[in-house]
Amino acid sequence: MFRNADNLLTMTEKQYSKATQAVWAGEDNPYFKEAVTTPIVNSVAFAYKDLDQWYDVSTGKQEGFIYSRNTNPTVTSLEEKIRVLEGAEDATAFATGMAAISNTLFTFLKPGNRVVSLKDTYGGTSKLFLDFFPEYKVDVQLCETGNHEEMELEIAKGCDLVYLETPTNPTLKIVDIKRMAQAAKKVGAIVVVDNTFATPINQNPLSLGADLVLHSATKYLCGHSDAMGGLLAGSKELVKKVFHFREINGASLQADSAYMIARGMKTLELRVKRQSESAAKIAQYLKAHPKVRDVFYPGLETHKGHEIARSQMNGFGGMLSFSLDGGYHLVEKLLPSLKLVHLAASLGSVSTLAGPPRTTSHVELTEEQRALLGIPESLIRYSVGIESVDDLIQDLDDGLRKL
Ligand code: PLP
Repeated sequence: MFRNADNLLTMTEKQYSKATQAVWAGEDNPYFKEAVTTPIVNSVAFAYKDLDQWYDVSTGKQEGFIYSRNTNPTVTSLEEKIRVLEGAEDATAFATGMAAISNTLFTFLKPGNRVVSLKDTYGGTSKLFLDFFPEYKVDVQLCETGNHEEMELEIAKGCDLVYLETPTNPTLKIVDIKRMAQAAKKVGAIVVVDNTFATPINQNPLSLGADLVLHSATKYLCGHSDAMGGLLAGSKELVKKVFHFREINGASLQADSAYMIARGMKTLELRVKRQSESAAKIAQYLKAHPKVRDVFYPGLETHKGHEIARSQMNGFGGMLSFSLDGGYHLVEKLLPSLKLVHLAASLGSVSTLAGPPRTTSHVELTEEQRALLGIPESLIRYSVGIESVDDLIQDLDDGLRKL
């Protein structure tokens, strides 16, 4: 894998702020001549005149590129950004967030292994745990999200991998990464954290003891709802294993998408700061509204995970959810009446996105199953965009007044 080691070292050693790292990391690749942006290298293969050099690159004796399923200059540049932002030794990219998750889990979980995770992981991840891994004779233990004692007990029984997500979807539950990593270390388990909701701006799981951190780059990292991707960062040893699985399995990221994500990441710090500030104001506004029953936002002091979130996050993020004082019919009335929102399944974009978990992330569960996860039928997940917060609050206010 090509790495311009000198510059990348300075990027982390000099402790530049994340705003600076997001712009500069991975951007100085000499392959790109004097270009001030990383070009999209849409080349499937890379040609060599010198057969010896080709052989050396193919066998890893020399750095360079051979074939884009393995490595590609535009993708490498993106990998550098997440590597630096997450403070990792190495990083690798995937076609989607789910590809990052499944490739990581399939790399480390073998028949007879045991994984401890949460009931509230993202729907696709949950499907892997409930529908796929049992078929491969992997023992899956899903704990109540936020019940740290239960998780510690399950981890102490022995396990190979601990898989966390925090904050969770859609009720923004918080898991104590440091505490879970300490429990995992005692039994020699690898700790993997899905950091999609927090982003590296608000949370760095590796600094809290996790071994690997992954992202659906489709969300905040890209930030514009126009490209899909997944990213993984961690130690050289672990990332290399997943990279090897990915290059053979073929879930590689296209150069076009890598470019879009890297372009989005240059403004990540600006966007996430604005979205976190706006979400905090919207959460306060909703909390005081008589037609709103509950507001789930880790920045609220009344949120169950507030203290842990305060200790492990730099900001509380741009995601929140709220339930209305009544049934689903109120959601059906409110959502279509909002003007400044796309009613869509994704999150983390410049435009505000919202939807009911019963239609989006938790559509495959029954009402009773959703209730067991603490998801009321009148819940709305709201991903705050970068619009003016006053306009967003006005929009919600107009909609709520009509209920
Ligand atoms: N992780 C989280 C927390 C998500 O919200 C999602 C998608 O919504 C994923 C992973 C999967 O990402 P992708 O849709 O890019 O495969």
